[in-house]
Amino acid sequence: MTTTADPFPALFGGSQPLRLLADLLKQDPACQLEDADLFTSPEEDETDQVRQGREALAKAICERCPARAACLNYALTIRPRDGVWAGYTADEINALTRIFARIDLPKEVA
Ligand code: SF4
Repeated sequence: MTTTADPFPALFGGSQPLRLLADLLKQDPACQLEDADLFTSPEEDETDQVRQGREALAKAICERCPARAACLNYALTIRPRDGVWAGYTADEINALTRIFARIDLPKEVA
């Protein structure tokens, strides 16, 4: 019997997200050199005003990130529950995911 070897079976939905993450990490993500807390919600409560300011700073870093396209591809795949990804909040990423799910996109562009 021949099987397709997947080194990451069932982990985070299979190997695709891990491949996308590896692709992202190869492109020198700007957030690796920044304060990681800018990109994720803190443990303690955060006012809306403070959150919006933190997210705006994170989004500004994403705008100059060479890995932004790969990050968006990864985030659309994993559908994060929080944080800033590719210049979008998790809520915005998940809204984009729902919009893309309704659009009949061509599988391949010639
Ligand atoms: S786009 Fe933003 S969140 Fe994604 S890797 Fe770059 S800096 Fe990090």
